[in-house]
Amino acid sequence: MRPVPSLIFKEMILLKKEKSFCLADYRESGLLLSLPASPHETLRFAADELKTHLALAGYRCSVEEERAAENGGLALRFAGSGNDMGEEEFELAAENGCMVIVGGSPRAVLYGAYRFLEEHAGIAWPTPEHRSVPMDKPATITGSRRFKPSFPRRGIVLESAETSEYALALIDWSAKNGLNDLFFTIELWERDAEQLRPELAKRQLMLTLGGHNLDRFFPAAELYSEHPEWFALAGEEGVRMTDQPCYSCEAGVKVMIGNIVSFVERELEKGVVLRTLSLWPNDNKRVCGCAACREAGFIATYVGFLDRLRQAFETSGIEVNVEHIAYNAQLEWRMLEDVPASSELDTLIACWGRNYRDSFEAPTLPRDVRFKAAVDRWAEACETFGTGWTAFEYYSDYWMLTSLFPPLFRTIGEDMAYFRRIGATGVMSLIVPYGKSVRIIREEIEGQAVNAADAGREMDSERAGMWPNLYVFSRMSWGGEEMGTAIDRLCRHLYGSRAEICREKLERLSDALSGLTAYNTEFFKLRFTDTWLRTDGEAVFGWQPAADDGAVPRARIAECRRALAILEAPLAASGPSSAELGTTDSSNKHAAAYNSSDDSATHKSSSIELSADAAELTRYYNFVSTKLRSILSQSLGQLCAIEQRWEEAATHWREALERESEIDGWDRENCTKWLQAAMSHARE
Ligand SMILES: [Zn+2]
Repeated sequence: MRPVPSLIFKEMILLKKEKSFCLADYRESGLLLSLPASPHETLRFAADELKTHLALAGYRCSVEEERAAENGGLALRFAGSGNDMGEEEFELAAENGCMVIVGGSPRAVLYGAYRFLEEHAGIAWPTPEHRSVPMDKPATITGSRRFKPSFPRRGIVLESAETSEYALALIDWSAKNGLNDLFFTIELWERDAEQLRPELAKRQLMLTLGGHNLDRFFPAAELYSEHPEWFALAGEEGVRMTDQPCYSCEAGVKVMIGNIVSFVERELEKGVVLRTLSLWPNDNKRVCGCAACREAGFIATYVGFLDRLRQAFETSGIEVNVEHIAYNAQLEWRMLEDVPASSELDTLIACWGRNYRDSFEAPTLPRDVRFKAAVDRWAEACETFGTGWTAFEYYSDYWMLTSLFPPLFRTIGEDMAYFRRIGATGVMSLIVPYGKSVRIIREEIEGQAVNAADAGREMDSERAGMWPNLYVFSRMSWGGEEMGTAIDRLCRHLYGSRAEICREKLERLSDALSGLTAYNTEFFKLRFTDTWLRTDGEAVFGWQPAADDGAVPRARIAECRRALAILEAPLAASGPSSAELGTTDSSNKHAAAYNSSDDSATHKSSSIELSADAAELTRYYNFVSTKLRSILSQSLGQLCAIEQRWEEAATHWREALERESEIDGWDRENCTKWLQAAMSHARE
């Protein structure tokens, strides 16, 4: 072996020391967090976040502005011009014995601060509640690591929320998980803007406004009586639809554009957070039947209107992007499949009614193959036009995914890889909260009010199911992360020592439930869970044995049996039985389940204290099994009733009612009603 000259050896040690940083070295001394002079609002916010959360992990931290990074400190820095760092990228770098978080924009520095907290202080936010996993010794950072998202636009769409707190928590969670775009309906924004605007600005997040809100700028109540010709023609007889404009009518379109421009100007005066306006036609498949609209086709007239809006923005010096949607409203394929010959607008592509068992990578049902072809066509067209496109997805939608809400990690991971490969510039996931989906089916469809006494019925599984989907979605919107690693992180952060068994439960829930989403189209506009309703075109009505050929209950019976076989097989991962877990008090919120980060703790004993999230997942797993048993018995009863075997029907419905009572189910009233009917028929 050749001797190493001592000078070089010394330099190597120096180099090693300067190019590495370990948080644990500063547990005693505390850290100095330095900011540049007059930092951007978001850099200051990032420093506050670091200080607050490092304190939780046991590190003191003092913040000073106008200080260069120095040995043993943390420094936040904006890359500035002349750097090759993209706006959304950030770097964690050990420099002169100091930890530097540098970003291509203030927002990217904030992502870097959160990523540093996750990887070096064990603090992460898979759900909006703070999570901390104590780490024995944070890993030493050597050199630098660059983080780069796969999509320039990554966000969440919220159409409605009952409280402003819900949207506020979503803004906070989005920044913590590397998302940059929040899409709110104009309705929601106008209600909560004063609270939401500063929170978006503080994090330098981007706002998209829109949705099915065109009537906001084109109120039929004010305009229709004088200008019926501004509205869409329903048919030959000159009947007009007040919920859809005629995009070919110059005078009407001019009024609508004028109203939108004034709205946007007023909004921008209050602060610059609005970046995109995404205006959709109303949620019905009825399009204007006038000669001009018919000749041009729906997509050309609708995109033409938005293009005139884009030009009006340009003329007025408004820097807000205008986007159009392509989607199959009410299963109308043309609204998704027709691609215009040219366009200068970005596109939002939404495929409504997929089978979420299959990803875009490998669709099996004919309609999913057709969705893939439509997305491919748009991707190709946008490349030709030189425009961007965003995939609009339903990974967090309780209407689409129902109360039998499936974890969709594999589908999400594969979808994202696919979107990336065919050139998507954005990915968005729609949140329809659990509570909203209940209101849609109970109030809007069944016409029964949901009141205070209904609070807590069935199970709001957002914490157990929806946030994990969104966490994986946000992780997979960044580059360089493997699917398996993202799920590992999720399970470690949420369930600590129970990660292994919880991961198995999540996989089973996914296998059991994800295919049920195919029934959104089969039973349109009802879903797998809507056992006591039937539909015929636009009409929805209550179930009647005489009008049922048995196909629907038979499909439900087969699916419930298939899903239950998956869920009720013994779990491979060792640990307490699900019965034991189910009885655990879930109020011990920050229970000491994290007292060991060693996964072998799973194998210790059944007396282990559970984390609140592991208990919540168990509660959800048990809820799903019970609900499936209930739907199975409800459907078996329906089959018997169709054949007028009332006594047997009563037996099944009695069983269903028991299950419904266990979970305070939404089908309890129907089970009671039909059980009584069956008993009186049986007595006849
Ligand atoms: Zn028309």
